[in-house]
Amino acid sequence: MRNAIRGRGSIAPFLLIALVLSLAGSLTGCATTGAHGERSLILIDTSTEVKMGLETDVGIRGEYPPATDVLLAEYVQGVGEGIAPYSDRKDVEYSFTVLQSDIVNAFAAPGGYIYVTTGLLAAMENEAELACVLSHEMGHVTGRHSVRAMQNTLGIQIAAQLLLGDKNAEAWGQVAGAGAGLFMMKNSRSNEFQADQFGVKYAVAAGYDPNGMITFFEKLVAMHGGGAEGFQGWLSTHPNTNDRIAATRAEIARYDLTANPRRIEKNRFLSATANLR
Ligand code: ZN
Repeated sequence: MRNAIRGRGSIAPFLLIALVLSLAGSLTGCATTGAHGERSLILIDTSTEVKMGLETDVGIRGEYPPATDVLLAEYVQGVGEGIAPYSDRKDVEYSFTVLQSDIVNAFAAPGGYIYVTTGLLAAMENEAELACVLSHEMGHVTGRHSVRAMQNTLGIQIAAQLLLGDKNAEAWGQVAGAGAGLFMMKNSRSNEFQADQFGVKYAVAAGYDPNGMITFFEKLVAMHGGGAEGFQGWLSTHPNTNDRIAATRAEIARYDLTANPRRIEKNRFLSATANLR
């Protein structure tokens, strides 16, 4: 269904694309979406993306309730806020929500909304691992991966309505519906590798040990093997876990980590997540 033209189709596709491009021209354009300066054309401007995020957040919370542990929620939000200043995207405000689910998962919605499950936190053993996963999700936000995926899912006609500031409740209803689907969404292989690269970059910038990404991947391999089976969302991707470990090791090798001791923060993490064990 990539780039499907939906709706009643009264506008010729080429005209519609031209309309979207000309509208977008003044608002958006090329944005840096890769950890090594790769750029791509973004049609949805930030304010529309943030509105999409608000809608999807409602859909996600309706389907997957947030954890009720206030201290745990504050802890995860605090770790995320410590990394956010190092993100390449300064035009969104990040939020980090813990969802009550035994499924090991993390994902990002449009506009800076990031989610981790209690199952994911219970599988970790230190803050560096959490920081690497949150950094990876911020990488998906920087790469505009979810907004681009939703644009493809909804079709360009809906995207045009959103961009035009259309008050069409049906169009925004489809955004909320697609939001809950993000829990199960599989990112493409290239998006995952790109988010892993951003994950290393942001974790390093925030002073964490990027090997937290490796040790967390290794826990997943111990749980489910090195393939992609048995995981939802974040993990059920084409690059299998062993491939991601190899690529992440190569990425870490690009950074000079000798200057400062790297933060791991095991005790702080274990006490904040003690109720999950
Ligand atoms: Zn991912």
